Amino acid sequence: MSARIIDGKTISADLRGKVTDAVHRLRRDRGLVPGLAVVLVGGNSASKVYVRNKSKAVTEAGLQSFDQHLPENVSEAELLDLIGLLNADEKVNGILVQLPLPPQIDADKIIAAIDPDKDVDGFHPLNAGRLASGLPGLAPCTALGCVRLAKAVHTSLAGLEAVVIGRSNIVGKPVAQLLLAENATVTIAHSKTLDLPSVCARADLLVAAMGRPEMVRGGWIKPGATVIDVGINRIAGESGKEAKKPRIVGDVAYGEAKEIAGAITPVPGGVGPMTIACLLLNTLHAACMQNGLPAPKI
Ligand code: NAD
Repeated sequence: MSARIIDGKTISADLRGKVTDAVHRLRRDRGLVPGLAVVLVGGNSASKVYVRNKSKAVTEAGLQSFDQHLPENVSEAELLDLIGLLNADEKVNGILVQLPLPPQIDADKIIAAIDPDKDVDGFHPLNAGRLASGLPGLAPCTALGCVRLAKAVHTSLAGLEAVVIGRSNIVGKPVAQLLLAENATVTIAHSKTLDLPSVCARADLLVAAMGRPEMVRGGWIKPGATVIDVGINRIAGESGKEAKKPRIVGDVAYGEAKEIAGAITPVPGGVGPMTIACLLLNTLHAACMQNGLPAPKI
């Protein structure tokens, strides 16, 4: 039987609608309009598209947008000065520095300079520590999106065998921490894991985040499992009569996997749209935290 398709577009639209309503109430009842500053340094065309989409989503949700575009050759000291100004600006509740940064800038130093309470990307070491310690803080947006998609299928994740492939600070590790906080039994697999197919085969919930096109085959998946595919890989199109058009695929061989899994996210249209929706949610939470208000339950 073919798997249920977990529709990230619909689920993220619903989340964005709820954030927009909460922002409206915050403005009406407290006169507070959360603000997000997205900082882009130089930037390839992909980064520029991401930033444009983020800014559009921010404005649509009723948030204030304070975008900053710096030249490619900006110095680390100049970028640190800008972060200092944004940290001190009360209208700015969230700061996101678009990665990657040019080689003259140490990204870790920049992330560490962001006020942790404004770190809506959830990359600051203090927020990573808060997440690992089960303390309130800001968690990375893509990881939050993965867990929301899993919860769209399972009312509770408690006791599920979850396997996360990938151990990056941006996706793999925070997804694993969030699943642990949901009481799943979590295994983190990575490039040095032995016999990955048999590790995957025990997963009720499989999260693939390694950036390897279509690596997870249908035969690796436990029948009925939920599969969350984080990968975004651009590959050359089929050769043939039509011109080779590049296409986007995930880390899971979707055609095979959807015949075995119980539920699966498509690529595109799965995890991708959740990331921006969770960024809006994090900005709302940051604004509430900074103003001593409880975070709305969304
Ligand atoms: P990364 O390169 O930082 O980390 C990849 C991880 O995968 C590493 O921990 C590595 O150990 C593991 N890995 C690599 N090859 C492996 C293999 N053969 N077997 C097992 N594990 C292997 O990547 P990342 O930033 O975590 O991103 C992962 C993927 O998710 C990429 O395709 C990226 O484009 C995508 N991504 C999507 C979103 C989104 O919004 N949907 C956001 C961030 C990243």
